Parts: sequence; C-alpha cells; structure tokens
Amino acid sequence: MYILARISEVQSIETNRGPNWIHGAGENPIMNIAEATEAAMFDPDEGGHIAFAPDGQRVPEDVNAQVQDFVWTTISEAFKYSNEHGGKITAEKSLLDFFRDRVQQTDFSDEVRRLCLDACKLWGTYVGDQVDRQSLRFFRLEECVDGSNFVVASTYKRILEHVSKTALAKAEIRLNEPVKTINAPNRTPTTKPTITTTKATYTFDEVVVTCPLGWLKQNTSAFNPPLPPRLQKAITNISYGRLEKVYITFPHAFWHQTEPTISAQFLEPQYAPHPKHIEWNQECLSFAALPSPHAHPTLLFYTYGESGAHIINSIQGLDPLSAEYKDVLTQALHPFYSRLPGYDGSEPTAFLATQWQKDEFAGNGSYCNFQAGVEEADVDIEVLRGDGMGLERGLWFAGEHTAPFVALGTTTGAYWSGERVARGICGGLEGEARDDSSPSAVLRD
Ligand SMILES: Cc1cc2nc3c(=O)[nH]c(=O)nc-3n(C[C@H](O)[C@H](O)[C@H](O)COP(=O)(O)OP(=O)(O)OC[C@H]3O[C@@H](n4cnc5c(N)ncnc54)[C@H](O)[C@@H]3O)c2cc1C
Repeated sequence: MYILARISEVQSIETNRGPNWIHGAGENPIMNIAEATEAAMFDPDEGGHIAFAPDGQRVPEDVNAQVQDFVWTTISEAFKYSNEHGGKITAEKSLLDFFRDRVQQTDFSDEVRRLCLDACKLWGTYVGDQVDRQSLRFFRLEECVDGSNFVVASTYKRILEHVSKTALAKAEIRLNEPVKTINAPNRTPTTKPTITTTKATYTFDEVVVTCPLGWLKQNTSAFNPPLPPRLQKAITNISYGRLEKVYITFPHAFWHQTEPTISAQFLEPQYAPHPKHIEWNQECLSFAALPSPHAHPTLLFYTYGESGAHIINSIQGLDPLSAEYKDVLTQALHPFYSRLPGYDGSEPTAFLATQWQKDEFAGNGSYCNFQAGVEEADVDIEVLRGDGMGLERGLWFAGEHTAPFVALGTTTGAYWSGERVARGICGGLEGEARDDSSPSAVLRD
C-alpha cells in the first residue's frame, strides 16, 4: 500500500504498489476474502479501450476491435497449444513466434498484421518481460484461475488486513531485521533449524522461507547445509520478471469527460523519444472509472522488461517529490497521456513509480516467469516447493514461485502456497506427509 501525495495540494490517494487485480474470480480464495471484507471491485472489461498506432494516430474503433479479438483469441490458442504439445515444442520457441505464425494465416492487411504483432507485445505487462522471451512450451504455466479479472477498487488494504490478522494477533514479528543465513541440517532429536538475522540468531521447530525467487537467486549461499543441487538449478532456471507501475495524478480526469477511456495502448510509438534498441510499447489504465468513492484522476502506466528498466534507472536515487523526478517521468510519459481524448494541457500533480528492481527484498524484480530456453519449468516449480526438506530438515518454501501451476506469480498463488506448507507442517507434526500442492486439494479440504 502506498500513499500517492499530491505535490501541490494537501490531498492523498491510496494506491497499490504491487497487486491491483484479482486474476480469475472463479475458485479463488483472494476473491472470497475480497467479498467477505466487502472490498469494492471493478471490471475494466466494461468498455472504453482505445489504441494508438506507431505514428500516434488513433487506431479506428473497428480495426482496434479486430486487433484485440485477434490478440485474445491467439492467446487462448497459445494456451491450448502449449497444454497439448508441451514437451514437443522447441524450448527456444517464444510466444511472439506463435503470434507471427498465426498472423501470417490471417487475411489481414499488412498494416493490421503489424498492429496485431505490436498489440501482442503488451502481454509483457502480464509477465514483466518481452513476449519474444516468453516460452511457448511453458506458456501454459501463465494460465490463471478461470473467471473474470477484477481490479480491487478499494485497494488490497482490507485483503491484507484479513490475511495478516492471525499473525499480527498471535505471532512475535521482528521487522527491520533481514535474514542473513538459514541453518537447517537433517532433523535429529537435538537439532533444530536456526535463522541468523542482522541482529541475532533464533531457533525454531520449523522454518518457512517466503523470500522472493529473485532473492533466492542471489542468496543460495545463505543456506547451510547448501540447498540440494537440483533445487539450486530450479532457482536458476525459472526467471524473475520486471513489472513496474507509474501512477500519474492530474487535477482532473480529462480523458474521462467526453469519451470515458478506461485503458489505452500505445503501439510501437515512433513519436516518443526512447533508446532505439528498446521496445517501447506502453499501456495505461484509468482510475477515474472506479466506483465511488474510489475514483480518482489517476492513470496507471504498466512498464515491463527493458523499457521499464530504462525508466526506473533514470529516476533511481531521485526524491519522488523533487522537480527532477517529475521532469524525468513527464518526459517519458507526456507523449502518451497527451494523446488521450480531451487532453487540455493539464500538468500532472503527482507521480509515483515503483522501483522493485532496485529493492533487494523484492528480489530486484516482480514475480516468476518462464522464458524461452527453459527446458522443464514444470519440474523446476515442483522442485522449488522443496517439500522433502520440510519433513527432513524443518525447512519449507512458500511464495508465489511455489504456487500451484494455475496461480503462479499471483497473490492467489502466494496464499495457496502458504496453505500447502501449513498443511505439510501440521501433517508432519501428526507424523503424516501430505501432498497438497494442487489448488483443488486445498479447496476440497
Ligand atoms: C508491480 C506488480 C504488480 C502486481 N500485480 C499483481 C496483481 O494485480 N494481482 C496479483 O495477484 N499479483 C500481482 N503481483 C504479484 C504479487 O504481488 C505476488 O505474486 C505476491 O506478492 C507474492 O507474494 P510472496 O509472499 O510470494 O512474496 P512477496 O510479496 O514478495 O513477499 C516476500 C517478503 O519477504 C521479505 N523478505 C525478502 N527477503 C528477506 C530477508 N532476507 N529477510 C526477511 N524478509 C525478507 C520481503 O520484504 C517481503 O515482505 C504483482 C507484483 C508486482 C511487483
């Protein structure tokens, strides 16, 4: 959670620096918690989606509808293809290769084909990296829980309060004390796992490591005895994405006046200055359409991969309330927001950009993804769950990268992974090993 403070006014807006969405409203525990805590939800699919062509002109509505239809149909065909052909697909083949093949089979004009390929690149905002790096073989691991995707208009605040309630009430929580080493030898009647932080060493019956995959990548040496070679290999094999967000607040939502715009895509923008070798597609979502009282005149830009990294590098170390910070982000994003319908020259009143790539405790990135070249990502994920070590050493692994396949990279997956470990520990305590890695097992119980 973060407060987006306006520079010029004493007014603040609550935003999420991490998740905004619930991916798949079907059998989803986060959706259940959202409903139980009366979180306000918003379905952005309700309309107002526009796109801009590489020359900066609006893509006509009928062409945009054709392009979007192609993109989403091809995404679902790619899921099907990945599910059905899996191991037979060359490891190097990317989602972009699949799109290129499919677009060739259409009778679209060259211009529409190009728009389709540009639009499919915005899949990058889902995984945090370019689609030419998205493994087609393991694209199936990106499939989410069935059902609509919702934005949590009232932010994840209540969901977070709900899931943290028991821990806050009953656990002893030590903040500002990063873990440095984790000692977990095989269990004996006299050995227990210990953790050394920057301040002290503690002994536990069981240790659950929920550090992000990006942290594990940089800290396998924190474990003593060393993690098994196959687990270390899995940590290396699975990639870690680079999704970032930039919130921009305006005095009023000009894009919402005459032609309410919920989202806009800017395809391969030739009109926006950027390093030539970097893909520069952008996408923004309006918060002016959220249900009352959560609506605010803010646009959320999602950035990913190399373009996101470029923007984040250019604001590194700058005070978010400084003029320089504002200038850098204005320069990067003015070419886009100034094209939205109704633009009247308004200047932003506040900016906030996440910098997960600069945060070692976020593992210098966002969440796991599956890049072209990975040979057996499904096995890697199973290994990352590290279940054997729980019973043998009292060392358990949870977090989005250990989630059931259908929820990897999401809050739902992180939640389910915690349930799996809790069941493993309780089962272990009862002298019974359990395998509850599938969501259906969790839901069934
Ligand atoms: C920009 C962005 C947008 C996202 N949008 C969505 C979305 O809309 N919907 C969705 O479902 N998911 C979304 N996600 C993904 C979602 O946030 C993650 O899947 C989820 O937070 C993972 O939870 P986790 O517990 O595995 O890890 P984290 O939430 O990363 O928690 C790991 C914790 O470990 C702590 N830690 C790290 N190292 C140490 C250490 N050495 N010692 C002590 N503590 C340590 C960290 O401080 C952190 O608190 C988004 C993520 C990002 C970055």
